[in-house]
Amino acid sequence: MSSLPVLVLNSGSSSIKFSMYEAGNGERTRLFEGAVDGIGTDLGKFWIKDAGGKKLVDQTPAVPSRSVAFKLVADALHSGRFPVPAAIGHRTVCGGPTVRENQLITPQLIDEIESYEALAPLHTPIAVYIMREALRLFPGIPNFAILDTYFHRTMPEVATRMPIPTEYADMGVRRYGYHGISYESIIYQLQPHVPEKLIVAHLGNGASISAILQGQCLDTSMGLTPTGGIISGSRTGDIDPGVLIFILKQIAKTTPNTDAAAEQLETVVSKKSGLLGVSELSNDMRDLRDAIAAGNAKARLAVDKFCWTIARWIGSYVAELNGLDMLVFTGGIGENDIASRAEICAGLGALGIVIDAERNNVRGAAVISAETSRVTVRVIPPLEDLIIVNHVVRLLGE
Ligand code: AMP
Repeated sequence: MSSLPVLVLNSGSSSIKFSMYEAGNGERTRLFEGAVDGIGTDLGKFWIKDAGGKKLVDQTPAVPSRSVAFKLVADALHSGRFPVPAAIGHRTVCGGPTVRENQLITPQLIDEIESYEALAPLHTPIAVYIMREALRLFPGIPNFAILDTYFHRTMPEVATRMPIPTEYADMGVRRYGYHGISYESIIYQLQPHVPEKLIVAHLGNGASISAILQGQCLDTSMGLTPTGGIISGSRTGDIDPGVLIFILKQIAKTTPNTDAAAEQLETVVSKKSGLLGVSELSNDMRDLRDAIAAGNAKARLAVDKFCWTIARWIGSYVAELNGLDMLVFTGGIGENDIASRAEICAGLGALGIVIDAERNNVRGAAVISAETSRVTVRVIPPLEDLIIVNHVVRLLGE
């Protein structure tokens, strides 16, 4: 195959990230990457840098809306300074019960993905907007939806079934799992020696953890929505359902409209909880570490809760896998927060997980387990864009 420039679009609630790879003959070369940050503010950031880190674009425009944000990206890509993409891969958080395979984006597919917006309300609205805009602004160029749920399709029914009445299960209420592209990228990097029994902890602003048997997902902590599972930046993670009923009843006292009350509950569980809710300070681990250093007890409790929950989850996945060969940390916290890795692993010696303080004193890829550790513990940054490019190239039939 000849070389193809493949554009990757990855949208979040307040940012659009993008990168372009030259893909051909098994080679993948990143040409550039960029982002528009601060959507919804007067002082956004728009930058593009080449593979060597040289800034090609560095602006601080007002970015009042996602349409302004995507226009910045599309105009830059049409400026003649960059290759015209041969194909575009969209990171797609959730396609609901029917969109389970990575595939070509059509207007009908976008409608279908949009119909499951309630399953990923922070991600889907901007993602479907950008899909529609990309079809309009890059006519004739194939666009593909690459799903974060795809990796988790191998989970057995005992893991995906929710213990609820079948009528709701039949509506698609089940565990899907997220961060799948990140998990795929860890397996990709471990090849050809993927350990038989593997746990990967993707600890970023959103956090999840997966049990992986022979390279396939056996179980993962996020469920129907990315709000489930372990506590993260501003999300509860799994929670006693009675808590939701209690909070909903409090909200209903002042908001009798059911839809409005449900939306407020959604905001509580996905934007005001987690590290932010407990610390009453921030959803960002760096802020919390600074606060802990200054003696802030609420920040200490929030981070203790985070690490304790993850340690418990690792324990349950060792049981599910009936053993463990390797534990991998990834995501912004997993890669960079030395103290979180140490605190999570501190009580896991009985499971054969022992990290070496000196080896752990690192940011980025490393083996951090002690010589005496039965389980290898590694830090591996994810390569999500590369995995998206690989799927796009496969779907193009190249
Ligand atoms: P992500 O969503 O993967 O970008 O990860 C974001 C999270 O990583 C935030 O909680 C950040 O505070 C955390 N993070 C990023 N860099 C560092 C660092 N150097 N030390 C501690 N936490 C970090």
